[in-house]
Amino acid sequence: MSDLISWLYNFAFKKGISVEQTKLLSPDTPSTSFPQAKLIIINANWHDPNEIPFIIAHEIGHVINQDDIHSPQAEMAASFTALHLLRKYCDANDIPTDNSIRFCSLFGIPFKYDHLVRQVLAS
Ligand SMILES: [Zn+2]
Repeated sequence: MSDLISWLYNFAFKKGISVEQTKLLSPDTPSTSFPQAKLIIINANWHDPNEIPFIIAHEIGHVINQDDIHSPQAEMAASFTALHLLRKYCDANDIPTDNSIRFCSLFGIPFKYDHLVRQVLAS
């Protein structure tokens, strides 16, 4: 398990969030969260392993935001929380955050979030 993934899981545990990581799902089954139960289910068998850190941060975001429906607004807000979390990881580990494209490729963040990334990095 990478340092980043350990850091994210540690963050989750400190917030009282349970993590169930499984390799039993198909590579196309998305990870999910149950915000009321403070539980996230991570598909460790996901077809693109580079995306897993952002996926973990995103599911943690749903729990922190206490989303009860997966509306487009809730998805965006969970990603926004996820980006703040990854920024926090960078700050804690002296990783430069001056370049949004590098930040996206480092954490497997889809480029459709570039405008959010710029916002988070500028804050
Ligand atoms: Zn989501």
